[in-house]
Amino acid sequence: MPLRLHNTLTGSKDVFEPQEPGKARVYTCGPTVWNYAHVGNLRAFLFYDLLRRHLQVAGFRLTHVMNLTDIDDRILDEATHAGVTIAEYTRPFAEAFFEDMRALRAQPAEQFPRATGHIPEMVAMISVLLEHEYAYVADGDVYFRIASFPRYGELSHLDRAGLRVGVRVARDKYEKESVSDFALWKKAQPGDDHLGSAWDAPFGKGRPGWHIECSAMSKRYLGETLDIHAGGVDLMFPHHENEIAQSEAANGKTFARVWLHSEHLADATGAKMSKSAGGFTTLRDLTAAGHDPLAVRFFLIASAHYRQKLRLTDDALHAAAEQVRRLRDLLQRLSAVRPADVDSQELVETAARARALYRDSLDDDLNLPRGLGHVFDFVREVNSALDRGPISEAGVSASLGLLADVDAHLDVLKDGEPGLAAEVERLIAEREDARKAKDFARSDRIREELRQRGIALEDSKDGVRWKRIAVTEAGRS
Ligand SMILES: [Zn+2]
Repeated sequence: MPLRLHNTLTGSKDVFEPQEPGKARVYTCGPTVWNYAHVGNLRAFLFYDLLRRHLQVAGFRLTHVMNLTDIDDRILDEATHAGVTIAEYTRPFAEAFFEDMRALRAQPAEQFPRATGHIPEMVAMISVLLEHEYAYVADGDVYFRIASFPRYGELSHLDRAGLRVGVRVARDKYEKESVSDFALWKKAQPGDDHLGSAWDAPFGKGRPGWHIECSAMSKRYLGETLDIHAGGVDLMFPHHENEIAQSEAANGKTFARVWLHSEHLADATGAKMSKSAGGFTTLRDLTAAGHDPLAVRFFLIASAHYRQKLRLTDDALHAAAEQVRRLRDLLQRLSAVRPADVDSQELVETAARARALYRDSLDDDLNLPRGLGHVFDFVREVNSALDRGPISEAGVSASLGLLADVDAHLDVLKDGEPGLAAEVERLIAEREDARKAKDFARSDRIREELRQRGIALEDSKDGVRWKRIAVTEAGRS
């Protein structure tokens, strides 16, 4: 069965067919670095990771872009209180985000562009919107005119009839009860220069609104039409509606063909976790309480389907840790077993069936929990076969094959970062070849590609070594 994804636009599970066969252009809304990410944010980010990994398993070449919002109302408020620039204020939270992603083994996106590094792209898009009267200036701010875009609301299936249209809002986040002309650009305020949050533009000195960054940066790195745009369900309205309006009005093309939305994480009381609402749990809180980041990873991606609500409780985290342990125990047992000359045909066939059912589940809108149901059925069978006596070489390798399939998504079986190390070593070897061939442009490109993925190379007399670095200004070339 081909890969099917639940598209919010159509409301149905559709076969995934990118514009260019075999190539997936994916944009996902990343963190606003005004604070640590809470576990609810991490659920969305790990959903992106599951999507990334399965697109690759399904044979697609991937370009995945995830933005960092490093300017918005809350960042300005906090930086003002702290008496620092917005760059100084956001730096530790951006670093913490990358640390969390590494601890949770989220594969890095190909690009992590930051809003403040892409002001010219945003200014250009706003200029086009003004020119074609999709936007207007009011009191020095620039607003998108909702009434100029009749398709507004199609993604979230908004009933526009009962809503007040034409109200203006300047705040980056606003209430979901009204459809409002939203700010593309906000006039500079006294103090903005001091915060490092004001830029020149033909329509006046100021700073971008929140929504325009995703439209401008996705276009810069992925073109006018995305194959997939994903985000948490709370971003669907107004953020994603606004992205569609800006991009389609400016480019005259479909913005994203497939929209995927992941559900909320609720806290133990059942309330949606949210930074703005106060009480929220970070990965740091969970590890300080003794939870393994990989159990947290398993809990967030595997204990519920991404479109179902999930509740964070201690019991659920312990159950996740237990399932990770069962998989690791089986891996260890299979690695230690001495294969015997016996007939394990039945086990081999059971493994093949489990692998097929697992793959079908993932192809069915990334249903990892259902897939794991089949896997754990098999884990019980192979454990009892091993209890009964030795199994054949073919039985061992079929079982290991299933574990490898599962770990392509889960990535919890081994310590360290096995997939990453192999990938980095391959790129280093490629760079060495380029240097031997005196193709220094290519060798520099590979070094830059690694840098953008958070890997620094050090040339030493013993050869090339690599280490992890915080990704700072990715994506500017
Ligand atoms: Zn966005």
